[in-house]
Amino acid sequence: MAKHILQHWHFYQPRNNDKWTNIINNECYKPNSKNGILNHVSFNIGPTLINWLKENDKETLERMIQSDNGQAIAMPYNHRIMPLIRHEEDIKTQIIWGKKYFQTFFKREPEGIWLPETATSRRVCKELAKQGIKYTIGAPWQKKGEQNTSKPYKIKLEKNLEITYLFYNPVSGKIAFNNPTDSGNKFLDNVDTTLDQLEKLIEDKEMLLLAYDGETFGHHHKFADLWAEYFPKGIAKRKDLKMITIAEYLKEFKAKEEADIWDNSAWSCLCGGLKRWTTGCNCVGGYKAYQQPLLKALEKLEDKSHEIFANEAGKYFKDIWAARNDYIELKLESIKEEEFFKKHLKKDITKEQKKSLQQLLEAEYHIQLSFTSCGWFFPNLSVQTEQNMLDAYTAASMIKEATKKDMITPLLKDLTLAEDWIDEKGKKRHVTGRERLELYLNNKI
Ligand SMILES: [Zn+2]
Repeated sequence: MAKHILQHWHFYQPRNNDKWTNIINNECYKPNSKNGILNHVSFNIGPTLINWLKENDKETLERMIQSDNGQAIAMPYNHRIMPLIRHEEDIKTQIIWGKKYFQTFFKREPEGIWLPETATSRRVCKELAKQGIKYTIGAPWQKKGEQNTSKPYKIKLEKNLEITYLFYNPVSGKIAFNNPTDSGNKFLDNVDTTLDQLEKLIEDKEMLLLAYDGETFGHHHKFADLWAEYFPKGIAKRKDLKMITIAEYLKEFKAKEEADIWDNSAWSCLCGGLKRWTTGCNCVGGYKAYQQPLLKALEKLEDKSHEIFANEAGKYFKDIWAARNDYIELKLESIKEEEFFKKHLKKDITKEQKKSLQQLLEAEYHIQLSFTSCGWFFPNLSVQTEQNMLDAYTAASMIKEATKKDMITPLLKDLTLAEDWIDEKGKKRHVTGRERLELYLNNKI
């Protein structure tokens, strides 16, 4: 009986990161789309990266999609920390938009989903299950109780609702971060050395799941795309090891045992929580003065935007949230504007009213984008934080144009509270989110 090795590769880049994405494409996406590895591993491509590839390297995107034989999985739309979302409708929309992206490019329904930063909660999983998602992936410490990662688990959510969880083996970190292992070899150096060690970790009939950022192979580690290319060949030489995708594995071995997950846990807040995306966390350098005020400012704008959207768009749309969920199809150009409005309007409207509705939808779209988790990821206020603030500003501007309600002034005031100290030639310079946003607006718009 074979020992099964499974892998998941998470591909993702934030928006407006073109210079880096181009480098990463040459080092990672392009070579790994050619070397055959994606036929053997579960993978997901975030919608923002799909957009970049579509614009800049269609061939690579096409090859990645062609590798799919049921093993590719979806991702919620824009890398938002799902358990931090407060409104049910926003959890739904993130999943619906992610699924619509997947369906458009992969031409089928996704069976699994990759949660951004594997951040999870039972509440999020309930919505995944309701939307037909069968499985997802977590870090070993996200499982309650014994950290046995050698089998898939059923998470019972409510009556007739469950999701299968696969927890990756902690040895994934040794590959991703290339730690020297106990035998003194670097894990990534030689596939056969790695396989010797993995083999010892798996019992007969069990599985071992490795999960990492796809960018590990070729970008974080030069030439690791060659290592990845050889991996299935190295396995083929061994009688007792079998490489199989998560989708294939679950067809053969359904989850039998029940388990539970820790609410508000993630893979890259190593203490097990979500503080990395709220206040800053001890596992990544401690409390940060910009993060909590930024989150509060954006949440306040979000609440207000939803309220305005419900009141204003509610006058014309049959169901405002259904309209918002379909709005992504306009971005995907899979529906014509005319059709979209015909489907959702409850009465005829004037040109001006239509323009306002478009602005309100665009505001709701940018509100989602403003919560992209990369804005909180780094110890200092980063380019990605600026991008989030710009999205919030765009949303507030759209609301103002549509309704004359001024959400810009309160937003800027709230962003004054997001403080940071920048290192400049050994000296610390104080800066606020508002200052950074205004600099950005003055230079770039
Ligand atoms: Zn942490």
